[in-house]
Amino acid sequence: MKIALIAHDDKKDDLIRFVMAYKSIFAQHELFATGTTGKRIQDEVSLNVHRFKSGPLGGDQEIGAMVARNELDLIIFFRDPLTAQPHEPDVSALIRVADVYCVPLATNMGTAEVLVQGMGQGLMDWRKIIGEQGEDNGRKG
Ligand code: PGA
Repeated sequence: MKIALIAHDDKKDDLIRFVMAYKSIFAQHELFATGTTGKRIQDEVSLNVHRFKSGPLGGDQEIGAMVARNELDLIIFFRDPLTAQPHEPDVSALIRVADVYCVPLATNMGTAEVLVQGMGQGLMDWRKIIGEQGEDNGRKG
């Protein structure tokens, strides 16, 4: 699976703890992240991560482009619901395109727990079928 990891600043510590807790699962997958989040995962959890630009500089949009190409299977995005973000339109756009392509997306640790444990039990295997159906998933437009 190709997994994107993103956390707003006040949620980065939570995401690092989360990735650390499930390191053995994440280590089996290909990881992508926005710039600062990815650097912290590399430095503090010692996992390989493909890093995009920082979120406010377009990193969320780069991840959204992967979704539009059907190249991502799971997004874990710990949003900060209490702080205004300068790149809020990018955040909304990423969530919207994930909905367009039915890519599982967790915006908090509660949902992320369920998705990652489910992935460990093979509950994400349907994504492989989606991948085999081709890039546009049969959608028009
Ligand atoms: P960052 O971006 O990982 O570069 O901080 C995350 C975001 O704010 O979307």
